[in-house]
Amino acid sequence: MMNTKIISFTGILTTLSIAHTSYAQQAEQHPNVIIILADDIGYTDLGCYGAKKIKTPAIDQLARQSIIFTNAYAPASTSSPSRYALLTGEYAWRKNVGILPADAPLTISPATTTLPEMFRRNGYQTAIVGKWHLGLGTKDIPVDFNREIKEGPLAIGFDYAYYFPATNDRVPCIYINNEKVDGLTPNDPINVSYKQKIGSDGTGKENPDKLIMKPHLGHDGTIINGISRIGWMSGGNSARWQDDKMGEHLLNKTISYIKKHADSPFFLYYAPHNAHEPRVPSPAFKNKSKAGIYGDVIEEFDYYVGKIIQTLKETGIYENTIIVLSSDNAPMIKEGYQDGALENINGHNPYGNLRGEKYSLHEGGNKVPFIFSWPQKIKRPFIQTQPFIYLDMLATFADMLNLPITKKELKDSRSGASLFTQVQAPLYREYIMTQNNGGEIAIRKGKWKFLPQRKNKNAELYNLENDPSELHNLIFAYPQLAQKLKIEIEQVYNKNNLKSATKLFSVLLASKR
Ligand code: CA
Repeated sequence: MMNTKIISFTGILTTLSIAHTSYAQQAEQHPNVIIILADDIGYTDLGCYGAKKIKTPAIDQLARQSIIFTNAYAPASTSSPSRYALLTGEYAWRKNVGILPADAPLTISPATTTLPEMFRRNGYQTAIVGKWHLGLGTKDIPVDFNREIKEGPLAIGFDYAYYFPATNDRVPCIYINNEKVDGLTPNDPINVSYKQKIGSDGTGKENPDKLIMKPHLGHDGTIINGISRIGWMSGGNSARWQDDKMGEHLLNKTISYIKKHADSPFFLYYAPHNAHEPRVPSPAFKNKSKAGIYGDVIEEFDYYVGKIIQTLKETGIYENTIIVLSSDNAPMIKEGYQDGALENINGHNPYGNLRGEKYSLHEGGNKVPFIFSWPQKIKRPFIQTQPFIYLDMLATFADMLNLPITKKELKDSRSGASLFTQVQAPLYREYIMTQNNGGEIAIRKGKWKFLPQRKNKNAELYNLENDPSELHNLIFAYPQLAQKLKIEIEQVYNKNNLKSATKLFSVLLASKR
């Protein structure tokens, strides 16, 4: 059982309930808030969650002073829908958000009260550094990377944005500084296509001799830094990122931001690319871990977290800064490239005893590490075993920090603030609803996990208390319970036009490369 491992690691932590006091009542001044959202890091990839062959000393140290969640869920088992739900507090399936190309229109309406918008209207400076992956431009006016990009992070509540548009395996391989591509020269414009080859750069399909790692299907487009990507791009040569320097580049932007805003409360969404493919650690981390290249990029991530904490301490704001550390979804170790990650993983297991991986509706796809640190307020760290979904951070922060927001603005988000102050907190919501990339739903209700019938798959019902690995489908043993859970899902779904949503999902899935 994973819980045993975690508890033995954090044996110094008390398991006694601390007094239920509201953080909001105690708050003298607004704390800074940093959300560190890793990309494709699994439930047991960190030392504090049981990893032995991957060393994460900075995160482990943070965890010792934090509330560690052992049943925290990413809203989706892929990037865009998970990030959408975190920032908006709304189920991503309501807006048909699946994995997006970089030229997809902005998925979040500027009228939405997002997490950064809520903080901003309460006097916070707000920033994103790292991965965006929520679309740019509009449906009518697609993004043009050579012009000012208005419909992006700055349109939905961020004051400052330094980001890459989609994923590190997709074109265009460039950073955007607020509204403009960083380092772009006018005589070398960027063109991007996900339909056909453009420009004269080599491709993974045509020029395999130029590659440093072989691609799997769909990753054989334009070669940038010896790695072929999803899609094709031309131009923007002076603006292209270097994969082995990405982590440090984004860290430096983050550190500069923290130093510059140390005097005012800020909300910072730091979303590095680690440990998403292509995995290209900086030279200092290459071959460092005992779990091959997979472990190397996670150890590098840990180093960045350590540097951020160090900066907070040096600027004197660590004590009153909340750090939330989690991952957008679980990994798939062998996906887009033949980088040797799986072959050299040396027995490390990112999923613990959970079934499934990225894209899955099973626990292995959505259950992620989740650490909540606030040194000034958390005097008795503990392990929280109650289920929590981070779609609820919008309502939770509003409640915890006494930030006004209307019920309508909260959308699907519910406050789980009690879980952050009490070990034995009651269930804060009736069920946890998670999704896969295609918008298919699973619900967890107490100990029960239900996956309705879906494409080529029969319905499944598991008792997670006895069967955390989801090995024994109890659908025929408890038909009435399954039916009840099915109706509950349908009630949520039917409030929205399910039929049109399903149709859109199938289009999205067909276009997924
Ligand atoms: Ca991801």
